[in-house]
Amino acid sequence: MTQRPELRQALGRLLGPRGPEIGCDQCFEQLDRYVELEVAGHDADAAIPGLRAHLDGCPACREEHESLRALGGLGQAL
Ligand SMILES: [Zn+2]
Repeated sequence: MTQRPELRQALGRLLGPRGPEIGCDQCFEQLDRYVELEVAGHDADAAIPGLRAHLDGCPACREEHESLRALGGLGQAL
């Protein structure tokens, strides 16, 4: 098997992640809560297992996570 990261990434988007990793839909559903826990100083990884792994492997969700964190610092504006 040849290593083709771009192909694996494309397939991953189609088939969803394997193993304990969660998908983008779940990630987006849980991301608000995850960031809330993080901002509050709780163990977000223990509360929502798999989300960190997804963020590590998914640039789109990682960006979303970072902007939510930035917003989280601003308080309950929404
Ligand atoms: Zn994602």
